[in-house]
Amino acid sequence: MIKNLLSHVRRVVVKIGSGVISTEEGLDASIVTGLSQSVGQLIDRGFEVILVSSGAVAAGKGALGIHGRPPTIPLKQAAAAIGQTRLMRAYKDAFLEQGRTVAQVLLTRDDLANRRRYLNARNTLMTLLDHRIIPIINENDTVVVDEIRFGDNDNLSAMVTNLVEANLLVILSDVNGLYDRDPRRDPQAQLIPVVERITAEIEGMAGGSANTVGTGGMATKLKAAKKACLYGVGTAIVNGTVPNNLIRLFDGEEVGTYFLPASNRMAAKKHWIAFTKKPRGKLFIDEGAVRALLDGHKSLLPSGVKGVDGGFDRGDAVRLCTLEGEELGQGVINYSLTELLPIMGKKSSEIEKILGYKYGDEIIHRDNLVLNS
Ligand code: GLU
Repeated sequence: MIKNLLSHVRRVVVKIGSGVISTEEGLDASIVTGLSQSVGQLIDRGFEVILVSSGAVAAGKGALGIHGRPPTIPLKQAAAAIGQTRLMRAYKDAFLEQGRTVAQVLLTRDDLANRRRYLNARNTLMTLLDHRIIPIINENDTVVVDEIRFGDNDNLSAMVTNLVEANLLVILSDVNGLYDRDPRRDPQAQLIPVVERITAEIEGMAGGSANTVGTGGMATKLKAAKKACLYGVGTAIVNGTVPNNLIRLFDGEEVGTYFLPASNRMAAKKHWIAFTKKPRGKLFIDEGAVRALLDGHKSLLPSGVKGVDGGFDRGDAVRLCTLEGEELGQGVINYSLTELLPIMGKKSSEIEKILGYKYGDEIIHRDNLVLNS
């Protein structure tokens, strides 16, 4: 069953919990190496993998003489600042052994709430993937205060899943998955292999945090799964401390708990576009572009744009209309009005010549487009 559920998956976000790659003593580089080998195997099978890795605090706190959890936020941030370089070094070395390159991406909630930064982060991540480089994401712990914190990397991994439009979120944890009762208290507790819908009853099965190195517990994992599922993406919670579990999941074995997506991808996109600012302007597009969008499910290129109305910035939502003014839908635009004016009607290949730079070939990427019909 799991094999069928994963058959459409191409792009995967794998979240690695602190409890998977570290012990009370700090980061365990040999575990990082083992996991990196599994990730390498997935890439060789044709998957694109984005990692969201915790472990910075765990890797850095020893240098501050801290055992257990850092007692204050500044100490936690200092530990993260020390540990993030150690964490990345462990990944860099592990992937280099396989001839692969990694990139560090540190994000805050603010970065993804702001549409322009959201698009910039997205473009960076897509560019890294295009170059077969493995992005390794963590929360930018040093600069976050409560309002701009993701709170935990389970939540961050769900946001990233939406950001990169992955088809699967895998949360590697030090627990086996979701049990019907607390397995620490009840030896009769049964692992639930597949969850069709995250109901109140399911939520009731998740307890608090089970370890001292990570911040999340089953409750935050369920929240992350719920978010991803609402975006139309399935989530697997798997025990990452068991070697090869990641590979076994992709081999179709029932390891951990798999949460079925609640809606389809299109609904997820509409959901996201609904959260952007109200449309700020209009683009009038020619017949060829209308056909490409409606029939060919293509992106909007500059050549098809014949007129504009209103002002907008890169990252704003704009309405799309035919030359007769009939509204077709709306999308998130890659170029501001000032940038669009000189390139509209031109070929994508001319964008860079005209502007001196380009954000992409598309004025509106089809993934950022919601059509009325
Ligand atoms: N960003 C933190 C770290 O790397 C972890 C947050 C979490 O585990 O949820 O240590």
